[in-house]
Formats: sequence, structure tokens, C-alpha cells
Amino acid sequence: MSGQRPAEPYDGTPVAALRRIAFLLERGRADSYKVKAFRRAASAILPLPPEEVAAAAAAGTLTDLPGIGASTAKVIAAAVAGEMPERLAAAEAEYGAPLTAGGAHLRSLLRGDLHSHSDWSDGGSPIEEMAMTALELGHEYLVLTDHSPRLKVARGLSAERLARQLDVVDAVNDHLAGSGFTLLKGIEVDILEDGGLDQSPAMLERLEVRVASVHSKLAMDPAAMTRRMVAAVRNPFTNVLGHCTGRLVTGNRGTRAESRFDARAVFEACAEEGVAVEINSRPERRDPPTRLLELARDVGCLFSIDSDAHAPGQLDFPVLGCERAEAAGIESERIVNTWRKSRLLDWARP
Ligand SMILES: [Zn+2]
Ligand SMILES: [Zn+2]
Repeated sequence: MSGQRPAEPYDGTPVAALRRIAFLLERGRADSYKVKAFRRAASAILPLPPEEVAAAAAAGTLTDLPGIGASTAKVIAAAVAGEMPERLAAAEAEYGAPLTAGGAHLRSLLRGDLHSHSDWSDGGSPIEEMAMTALELGHEYLVLTDHSPRLKVARGLSAERLARQLDVVDAVNDHLAGSGFTLLKGIEVDILEDGGLDQSPAMLERLEVRVASVHSKLAMDPAAMTRRMVAAVRNPFTNVLGHCTGRLVTGNRGTRAESRFDARAVFEACAEEGVAVEINSRPERRDPPTRLLELARDVGCLFSIDSDAHAPGQLDFPVLGCERAEAAGIESERIVNTWRKSRLLDWARP
């Protein structure tokens, strides 16, 4: 073949092309500044009538629209013309492959995800975009778990902001009524140094699923850390123990050692209280480490396999946790997000 490569056909909308590029970049953990232009352009043209977008593409005036730059205009123009946008083809080639070889069977049994963040705390996308992507991934439910007040670096939500967020969750669910998908009300609540939870009991009561995690004083004395974690696990509001060791194994935040604690004591408390030990699927966390995953398995714990997504594309991470759970021989029945929503909610009620 010589000369210009014939354009491959594309039968999606410009919005779908832009969102797919963003999804793939996020899934590949590209820097969020690279992703933002595509998300911004998608939301800029979403409300416009398709004829108006097509007319601007034909006239070469797409970049006059607010939120559209040169590279996103090229994507839109190609999609409008029914041609595969080059940027989309490149993103598919670079990031579209399966994240991992294993875990597919268990992933097919997951009905939802218990840990995700929006731009209300340290996530990069609005609540409705997270919900829409979870729906598209086939989830029955996604728990929105933005951070609690004490985590100021992550813009943790005060009780007042959380109350306002719950109204937004209601509105998103009204909008998605009939889709079979539900956005559930949740929190990733900080475990304070004394083992208390960083949100008022009245607000915790209003939520449907609560993930409790240690984010501060990760290197505290092991005996104190054990008391701290056991106290949090014994708290009737706690449903999931998030990324229990706090370790970082790779990535641009560098590495961080595991917190030290009596893991058997903590997991026995989890098993007694029916608290799920989170298998955090983020590639830089891979928490718990394998020896602790196997200990929690032997102690009889429940598990949840979570994305801890901070961007819509990262909602695809759970297959990574599934691969680890399969390798550890953990039965799907013990993984709470293989359960139907009604059973999950019964379990999570304090
Ligand atoms: Zn966390
Ligand atoms: Zn998180």
C-alpha cells in the first residue's frame, strides 16, 4: 500500500470518541493533565445539537467553541465524518489491551465496586461521569467514597459538604432511573489515631457503605497501630477495611513501606465483625501483600475487590485485584461485591 492510509470507519459520536480516549488514558494511568482536554471537550459538545457540531466541523470552526482545542477538534471532525480519529486509534493501540492475563472469571462475577472518588475530594471527574462509566462497565452499583474532613490534602468532605453530596447522588440516581444501576452513598473515612472514625455518627448513619482507612501516622508503633485498626474494625459503622498496610509498591508517588501491626489480630476482628478486608486493585498499592491476603483468607475474612478509582478509566482496575484473589484461592462467595445490591446493603447496615 502506498500514499495516504484510507481512514477506517467509525460509527460512534464525537462525544463517545472523546470519552473513550479519556477512559483509555486514565486506565493506563496517564497524567491527568493529558486527559483533561478530552473530558473538557466531551462535556463542551455534549449539550450541543449534533447538526451544530457537524456544521462547525464542516466550516473548520470547532476551535471557536469554548473547551475545544486543536487536537480535540481533530477527533471531533474525524468522528463527524465517520472516520476513526487517529488519537483514538493510537490510544486503543497503546492502552486498549487487557490489563492482565488472569482474573477474568472472577471479574465477570463482580456486580460493583465499593471504593471510588470524585472531584469533590481528590478525584479528577464529576460524580455523574464516574457513575456513567460504572454503568457502562456493567456494574450494578458503585459506592461513591470521597474522603473525610481530616484528610485536608485530599479536600476531605465536611459533614455539610457530604450532606450536599448526598443530594447530588439522589439526583444522579433519579437521572439513571430504569438503567439497573445505582450509585450508592459512601465514604472513605479516616481512621483517627485513637481508632475513631473521622465523620459524625449522624452522617455515617445516612450512608450505605463505609470504607475505613488509615491515611496518617502510617509508621506508628505496631502495638498502637493494632489497637487503632482493631478499634476501627469494631466500630459498628465500618464495613470495609481499606488498603490495610498503606504500602506503595510503584508509581510516581514513590514507594512506601507497609504499616506494621498484628495482622492476625486485625483480621480476626474483621472476621468476627463481618468487616470485609479490601483487596485494593490500584497497581501502586496491591494491598494487602500476598502473605497477608493469604492470612486473611485462612482467618475466614470477607473481602471486597475495589478499584479505589480517582478517574473513570480507573474503574477498570478491579480485574487486577481479581487476579490476585484467584491466585490466593479466595472463593467468590466471600467477596461481598459479587453479592446483589440488596444483600450488600443488608450486610452493610449498622
Ligand atoms: Zn485511601
Ligand atoms: Zn480511596
